[in-house]
Amino acid sequence: TTRFIVFFRFYFETENEGLNGVFKCVIFPTQVTAAFQRKVQNKIKDLLQQMEEGLKTADPHDFSTYTGWTGIALLYLQLHRASHDASHLQRALDYVKRAMRILNGRKVTFLCGDAGPLAVGAVVHYKLNNTADSKDCLSRLLQLQRSVLSPDSEMPDELLYGRAGYLFALLYINKEIGADTVDESTITKVATAIVESGKNMSAEQKKTDRCPLLYEWHKKQYIGAAHGLAGIYCMLMQPAAKVHPDMLSELVRPSIDYVRHKKFRSGNFPSSLSNESDRLVHWCHGAPGVIHMLIMAHKVFKEEKYLKEAAECAEVIWQRGLLRKGYGICHGTAGNGYAFLSLYKLTQEKKYLYRACKFAEWCLDYGTHGCRIPDRPYSLFEGMAGTIHYLSEMAKPEASCFPAFEL
Ligand SMILES: [Zn+2]
Repeated sequence: TTRFIVFFRFYFETENEGLNGVFKCVIFPTQVTAAFQRKVQNKIKDLLQQMEEGLKTADPHDFSTYTGWTGIALLYLQLHRASHDASHLQRALDYVKRAMRILNGRKVTFLCGDAGPLAVGAVVHYKLNNTADSKDCLSRLLQLQRSVLSPDSEMPDELLYGRAGYLFALLYINKEIGADTVDESTITKVATAIVESGKNMSAEQKKTDRCPLLYEWHKKQYIGAAHGLAGIYCMLMQPAAKVHPDMLSELVRPSIDYVRHKKFRSGNFPSSLSNESDRLVHWCHGAPGVIHMLIMAHKVFKEEKYLKEAAECAEVIWQRGLLRKGYGICHGTAGNGYAFLSLYKLTQEKKYLYRACKFAEWCLDYGTHGCRIPDRPYSLFEGMAGTIHYLSEMAKPEASCFPAFEL
């Protein structure tokens, strides 16, 4: 169960230097103080050491981005992005090579399947000027499209195990290596397969008028970012996915509006269309995932209502987002903190940067709040690597990027 802790409310909208030293107001823009930055950087060093030690006993066969070696490689890529320290890039290479040796051909997504290691491998090799190795990763990644496009396959569409998770891998390549590294026609084929699958499910459920793109995972119509509609719609709205504007306004937009009407009075969102309990405030289930869909909808459709509801999500995350499940990305405080960073990037409102800093401050006391220890305690999406990833964003919050999800 998820409990929540509300004492941070006391600091609500009191963003001055005097209070906890998080902020220094240098007329404009607001800057995070050097003292807070130092604390964060020291904690990153400390946690990295703990993580490396802990990984010695991690499952050697888990190659995934979500809980395995590729997630650690992705963390080192992020640290390299922030510091330009060449040793971080070398570590990323070591970890992604380890992952690529043990691919199993079972799943196709960035987070849980072979596409993660292959895409990260392509990017790391590219950054190291290993052109042939990078191209080899890319061609193996593109070979996976056959099963993704196969209409009779049992392939889901959600982010963790489905087509949207493969689409992310392609878009990630084009962002990191260059537009058209993966050609537009491949991207269009994958995006179209997702749209067709959603239309079929909607027709089957007789919801064509209300929710023209409907998706299920394990027989449930999930809403959240990991397994549900919000994650899939986010990918379809990515400009680089090149979904036709008519399709966006005729299919994606009414579907988003349908999900919007499932909002609880608290501002939170249910985990699935049939779920009535206002319990989970996670990236995977609840407002911290749905907020990213609303932010994208605001960017694409330019309507105030999406921004207003994204702000309501941020309120609920502020009230209930410090989780007893831990400090991770998927269902932890770090993942919830990314909601504030994304809204800060969109609005430049310092209130959201402040809140992101306060969630980071909570993470500085890693392990002292009696939180549950996750199954994969050092991993990117459940554990310490994710917390470090989040903390590293504090150096340049305006350039933050939710791993394996934002572009
Ligand atoms: Zn989760």
